[in-house]
Amino acid sequence: MNTENKNANIVLKKFENFIRKKKLRNTNERNIILKEIYKNEGHFNPDDLYIRLKLAGYNISRATVYNTLQLLEEANLIIKHYFKENSAIYEKVNFSSPHYHLICIKCGKVTEFEEKEIKQLVKRIVGKYGHKHLNHSMYIYGLCKLCNSF
Ligand SMILES: [Zn+2]
Ligand SMILES: [Zn+2]
Repeated sequence: MNTENKNANIVLKKFENFIRKKKLRNTNERNIILKEIYKNEGHFNPDDLYIRLKLAGYNISRATVYNTLQLLEEANLIIKHYFKENSAIYEKVNFSSPHYHLICIKCGKVTEFEEKEIKQLVKRIVGKYGHKHLNHSMYIYGLCKLCNSF
């Protein structure tokens, strides 16, 4: 089994447990949405996802997409970002290597980076406060190289 399928299976299992705990019905539509999210890399907004599902031949309503995103966020399987005010962008949780974001407030460019030391720092902080760690994110707002050169 390749890594991609393995990850998808782990995530589906996690979601199944979450659904059971919430005493919700397990629906095929939600699983299709989750698989579609984990098949792709990068950031997406709910409408992108809705259209992608439509193009893939699934007839899933926009409301179902939105509701499922909310559940997946609650289940800690996707992260919601607000890079710009009032527009939510999602991405799947990368359990093995979390990444962070540099955001240009002028052109809106989002650059991802990884930094081992942040991971270690977060581990230390949650340990100190006895906080249960689910995930974390970091946003550094500013001007990208290009915007800063004008
Ligand atoms: Zn910029
Ligand atoms: Zn990202």
